[in-house]
Amino acid sequence: MPADSDSADPVAVDRNGTERFRAFGAVLRERFGGRIQRVSIDAGFTCPNVDGAVTTGGCNFCDNRSFSPSRRVRLAAVAEQLTRGIGSLRKRYGNVAGFIAYFQPATNTYAPVEQLEEVFRLAIAHSPEIVGLAIGTRPDCAPDSVLDLVDSLAAETYVSLEFGMQSRHDKTLAWMNREQRHGHMVDAMNRCRGRRFETCAHVILGVPGESHAEMMHTARAIGTLGVDAIKLHNLYAVRGTPLGDQVLAREVRLMGREDYIAAVVEFLRLIPPHVIVERVSGDAPPDFLIEPRWCLEKATLRRDIELELARLDARQGDQYDPAWIDLPVEPLTTPAAISEKIGTRGRLPVLKLSAAAVMSPPTASEANRPNR
Ligand code: SF4
Repeated sequence: MPADSDSADPVAVDRNGTERFRAFGAVLRERFGGRIQRVSIDAGFTCPNVDGAVTTGGCNFCDNRSFSPSRRVRLAAVAEQLTRGIGSLRKRYGNVAGFIAYFQPATNTYAPVEQLEEVFRLAIAHSPEIVGLAIGTRPDCAPDSVLDLVDSLAAETYVSLEFGMQSRHDKTLAWMNREQRHGHMVDAMNRCRGRRFETCAHVILGVPGESHAEMMHTARAIGTLGVDAIKLHNLYAVRGTPLGDQVLAREVRLMGREDYIAAVVEFLRLIPPHVIVERVSGDAPPDFLIEPRWCLEKATLRRDIELELARLDARQGDQYDPAWIDLPVEPLTTPAAISEKIGTRGRLPVLKLSAAAVMSPPTASEANRPNR
């Protein structure tokens, strides 16, 4: 785990000069030779948790009002968002070595594979500055046909397939109204192993009713699953969601900042040292965020996580136990209602390609949403 250009910082690295955790930015700099930025794209997908394939209403924390089943995948909008996103990121950061096209909102593998291929290839070919793809989806929405496609794209460019795992615990997934179980994650990862793309697991910490021990069980499961990268998010509440209503009514209390820092630090210590840490917190646009407001200060939060690791003289993976064995979990295959939509071309009027109307690209803050 070589240290990056910040490695003189005694907080960010340990006494051996090793980074406290394997931060994504440094990994990308090593891999691509400079700063890489992600351009968020809303390609117009919906979600099987919204359109009724597995349930309706969506996850309780997700503002999915725009993911209506009448959406269309629009190639022109994808191209436009890439052009605008690259332009504004160049303006903001100056010297950027390349961009990853990040298919972020909704479930970005929920379409016939031919249509998925069309939209992903459009992004790859959009500009020589695009160095890869990140595709956010659910573990129950990745049948072999999708994995074969992603694998073939990964032969040509960098690809990360991001799964909304959220938790190792089915009771937590049920609390979220996710209609997905850990068995789906186990099955998806079993079928991803040996393929050419990277896998990333999104995990939410601070879910009411989930104990500290249960969160750490999720951390240990990361090693067993064999994911290449993780994104950690604090649970936060935004307006217009069931969770937001509950928080406003004081029916649900969200995790405090100090508890979150302690949970992240222990989580990082329990996962394998090679796992890339793409994110240690999430937030939402300030006008939409109800609580916690402390997650808006991302840089300070990250610094305090590093400080706590330094105080403990700890680093990622120093408590990882490769011999740990998880409780048996029955792998669960992709639900038939999802497979049918992915495997059938032309059956989804919602996915008709249209060169009409251009969608707005997501804001920088929206890019932090734990929305898979
Ligand atoms: S979080 Fe993801 S799976 Fe849940 S409703 Fe939103 S898009 Fe769908």
